[in-house]
Amino acid sequence: MKFLLGYLKEFKKESILAPLFKMLEAIFELLVPLVMASVIDVGIARRDPAYIMRMCVVLVLLGVTGLAFSITAQYFAAKAAIYTAAGMRRDLFSKIMRLSFAGHDAAGASLLITRITNDVNQISNGINMVLRLFLRSPFIVFGAMIMSFIVNAKAALVFLVVIPVLGLVVYLIMRSTLPMFRRIQKGLEHITASVGENLEGVRVIRAFCRQKEEQREYEGLTEDLYQRQMKAGRISALMNPVTYVVVNLGVVAVLWFAADQVQEGVIAQGEVVALTNYMSQILVELIKLANLIVLITKALPSVGRVREVMEMPEDERKKPAETAKAGTAEGSSTAEQIVFENVTFCYPGSGEPALEHISFQVKRGEMLGIIGGTGSGKSTLLNLLVHGYERTSGTIRLNGRDIDDWTDREIARCIGTVPQHATLFAGTIASNLLMGRENITSEDLRMALDAAQAREIVEKKEGKLAEPVLAGGKNFSGGQRQRLTIARALAGKPEIVLLDDSASALDLATEAALRGALRELPWRPTLVVVSQRASSVLSADQILVLDDGQMMGIGTHRELLENNETYQEIYYSQYPREEAANA
Ligand code: ADP
Ligand code: MG
Repeated sequence: MKFLLGYLKEFKKESILAPLFKMLEAIFELLVPLVMASVIDVGIARRDPAYIMRMCVVLVLLGVTGLAFSITAQYFAAKAAIYTAAGMRRDLFSKIMRLSFAGHDAAGASLLITRITNDVNQISNGINMVLRLFLRSPFIVFGAMIMSFIVNAKAALVFLVVIPVLGLVVYLIMRSTLPMFRRIQKGLEHITASVGENLEGVRVIRAFCRQKEEQREYEGLTEDLYQRQMKAGRISALMNPVTYVVVNLGVVAVLWFAADQVQEGVIAQGEVVALTNYMSQILVELIKLANLIVLITKALPSVGRVREVMEMPEDERKKPAETAKAGTAEGSSTAEQIVFENVTFCYPGSGEPALEHISFQVKRGEMLGIIGGTGSGKSTLLNLLVHGYERTSGTIRLNGRDIDDWTDREIARCIGTVPQHATLFAGTIASNLLMGRENITSEDLRMALDAAQAREIVEKKEGKLAEPVLAGGKNFSGGQRQRLTIARALAGKPEIVLLDDSASALDLATEAALRGALRELPWRPTLVVVSQRASSVLSADQILVLDDGQMMGIGTHRELLENNETYQEIYYSQYPREEAANA
């Protein structure tokens, strides 16, 4: 609640004016039956057309003013609701951008998308209706009751019975439908998640011919939702008939009581009409109130869900550049460019460390190869270097400076990363290579494309560098995507280049050419090359052997081949002994 008020605070004026204007509107509405009464009792009784005309003008004036107030209220309520939603979305988006990798792992994309769209919409609707109704509805209910007492206290006694009965009916129906609405909401979320997953994996589903099963599963989910909706709908449908019966019984009672009094001249006919009008106003307002409660019960959990995202852990090191120590990002004199000292890392929520006691040093301009089976922690190690995750213990130094003292911006300038999963964004080849960096010349781009063996990809495309790229790079093959992401990393001429299994989709000849080109780069960057193929790291100055998060050894190819069992195993599985002997 406090969370929500924080947002509404910015729209204090709107949040106060909207209900206030709604209340003014309500006052005008309450006056209408009184005017009607006098039209009947005075105008019609005396057969005075002039009076009736005057009162009709008053009625129109009341209506127009009421409408004006109502529109004003609607305007303020909508403004507060929409701007709050906009602010919330903005904050959510920037929060999502700041989330640590661990936060992204925990949340997942489809969840974050529903939070930023559906939940925020739900909240916005809730705010809008609350601002409009929370003062107005009780005001009309009690106002109408008081007005009816003013009109005729005796006949108004009926109200004292009807209102509690109406309230009770609404309450009972709400009580049984609210949990149902909550379950419907859950079912809806389920379906959204399932559809999202299906769309992402549509190729896999086709490949395994699972369309029928997926269809059945989807039908099961929708059928379930349908049943829930029907059940809730049937009970909700009782609301109108039951309340109308109660109200009409009330009207009958009012007429019953009033009839005698009209005969006796205690109560005027017009006043009876006014009383029945008040009765139906109360009914309408109670039904609105019930709908409001449904909306609130939908919106409140959404507030909780948005808050949950807002409170997810961020990477604390993402502080702005000026707070960090004066940059030694470039031109540092330390020869050891990357230093790991006894680094251990555990993924949040997992007991087993993904990396344990890792120590090594890489000198400027050298090449470090990292080899190990899948799941041995290779990608994790690279992620620790680029602020993806924070190590659990140990020290990591870049250019002699602790990794925690680096800002993300500095890291991004110093390290060019090629992630294991080659991701391109919708746009053009050029926009993907530049990634918003303005200091990259077309000379740099050409050099990067050449080194990444990606020039032919660009040249084969009709639009060259302006060739459009679809979302996720769908119009490029896996190998093309890999080469373009390599070119993207090289274009900024980073001091350090990290390649995470980046040649896995390349044929051996292209990979060999890539390897040669990387060693020939004019500014001689430090290279960290992760691979499962021994051939990719053979020529490295040092090779780090990982197995199940443990460092099995480090050394040159020759050294490891002589005395490292894990390395021998990997190597000989790829180059059978005889062949290796000939090589
Ligand atoms: P590699 O790149 O060598 O194939 P990874 O570094 O990706 O291996 O994974 C090392 C270990 O960490 C694996 O056991 C994997 O299950 C685990 N792991 C990887 N990513 C995550 C993650 N985001 N959350 C939790 N555990 C993870
Ligand atoms: Mg990996």
